[in-house]
Formats: sequence, structure tokens, C-alpha cells
Amino acid sequence: MAAPKTLIAGNWKMNGRRADGVNLAKTVAAGAPGVFDKADLVVCPPATLIGLVANTVGEPLRNGLIGVGGQDCHAQVSGAHTGDIAAEMLKDLGCAYVIVGHSERRTDHGEDDPAVWQKAVAAHRAGLVAIICVGETEDERDRGAALDVVRRQISGSLPDAATAANTVIAYEPVWAIGTGRTPSLDDIAEVHDAMRALLAERLTDGDRVRLLYGGSVKPGNAAEILGLANVNGALVGGASLKAEDFLAIAAAA
Ligand code: PEP
Repeated sequence: MAAPKTLIAGNWKMNGRRADGVNLAKTVAAGAPGVFDKADLVVCPPATLIGLVANTVGEPLRNGLIGVGGQDCHAQVSGAHTGDIAAEMLKDLGCAYVIVGHSERRTDHGEDDPAVWQKAVAAHRAGLVAIICVGETEDERDRGAALDVVRRQISGSLPDAATAANTVIAYEPVWAIGTGRTPSLDDIAEVHDAMRALLAERLTDGDRVRLLYGGSVKPGNAAEILGLANVNGALVGGASLKAEDFLAIAAAA
């Protein structure tokens, strides 16, 4: 069976004013046709810029050349949740994706697996693809617990209704995010093979769920990481803020 199409998702995090968002989105959209045969592209701007970015890339968005995603969502549809954003609101702005369970959410906002599970359910309810993030800390890797942690996080945060069409899993070792350090290719392959086995066991189309690697992906290391059998794309933080780097990572697929 052919591997699922590569997905390169950019997590802009808490960066950018309106002009930055428009410039970055325009440049990524301009380059999208050149990498379309290699990878699907998704940009996840901060909430303040989602509407603007979705409008900026209107035509490529409608043509499926580029997707827009949120960086988080609330589990409820609406209500008294000051500062939060419902998955339905992201959908309304033009999003097709939402990241849930990023390690910075887990750390900064105390989100645990049940909370991530609820957010993934909300994403599916709203018709969004949930990009569920998992990954071990440095201490957990040093203790030899990386596989156990990743298996536990997937088991605890993956809704039963997950399919290859509505769910993407991103393996992001916490210690590799924004540090310039990456696991060895063997270590990435080991975790991705284990995630594939777990998903194939749990979901009827688990062999088709896209598995992204995230953590200090850049143009210089993208080809070797994306060349691994069960790596179907990348979740890119820092390098997604430079359109040429983001596009170069997609071109390396
Ligand atoms: C991320 O935050 O999802 C990420 C992978 O960041 P970076 O690429 O900067 O390590």
C-alpha cells in the first residue's frame, strides 16, 4: 500500500503581528504549487492571525494547496470559558486542522491526556483534523521510558472515532523542541514504528494515519527524517517562521 501523502505543518506559536502574518502566509502560498506534488502544507498561526491568514491565502486554501490550523481548542462548543476558542470557531474562520496536546500546552496549561482526548473529540465534532502531539521529556528518554510514555499518551488521548482522515499524530520529543537537538534516526524510527503498530491495532485504518515528527526540523535534516518509513511528515516550529525554510522542508519530502 502506498504511504499516505506527506504533511508539513507549521506551528507559528505566539509569533507575529498582522503584517508578519500576511507576509509569511503570502510567501508560503506563492511557493505551495511548487511543492504540492510532494507534500500537503498547513500553517497554524496564533489565534489573532487565523482569520487574516485564511483570507490572505483564500484562493490556495479553496484549491487545497494550503490548509490553516489552530494551535489549540476548547472542548466545549461555546460558553463561559474566558479566553478560550471552540473548535467550531476555528472551523468558522476557515481552519481544517487544530493542534491539540502540544507539549507547551501540557506544560504551560497543565493539559493531561484526558484533556487532550476531549479536545481531539471536539476537533472531530467540528469537522477538523486533530493533530495530536505526544512525546517524552529528556528525563523520560534517559530512563528508557520514551516508548512507554508515547504509547500511554496515544492511548489516553486518541478518541475511538479517530480515523486516518480526521487524525494526525505528531511525535515531538519535548527536549528536541526549539533546542536544535534531534533524536538519532534510529530513535525516531523506533518510536514511529511503535506508534504505527499501536494505531494499526486500535483503528481499522491505523496503517494510514499520518505520523509527523516534530522537534528542530530544518531544511538540513528534513530529507533524512522524512525518508524514514513511518514518518509521514513534520510539525515544524521555528523553521516555519521563514517561508523559504518551511518550503525547503516540504521540498525535501
Ligand atoms: C514545535 O513546537 O512543534 C516544534 C517542533 O518546534 P521546533 O521546530 O522549533 O523545534
